[in-house]
Amino acid sequence: MSYYSYTERYEEVKMTGYKTISCFGCGRKMRRQKTFSQTLNPWNKSKINVGQLKSRKEIMDELKVKIEEWKRTSAMHEVCKEKA
Ligand SMILES: [Zn+2]
Repeated sequence: MSYYSYTERYEEVKMTGYKTISCFGCGRKMRRQKTFSQTLNPWNKSKINVGQLKSRKEIMDELKVKIEEWKRTSAMHEVCKEKA
């Protein structure tokens, strides 16, 4: 009997968002960045083309939406969070 392991690596689609916002605690400007990603894998099915896999473009569009949502959220410095 023989065994072998098989690891498949899926391509990751990444997108980084940047924002400069005022800290919710002290009001000073702060820069933030966050990376969002999804992989092109057999379980990541398309919401547009039913039964098909998500395309790179579809993932990018979803990541853009996620970044826009993230940009609208407030943020605080770690020290300001402790004071709050
Ligand atoms: Zn602050």
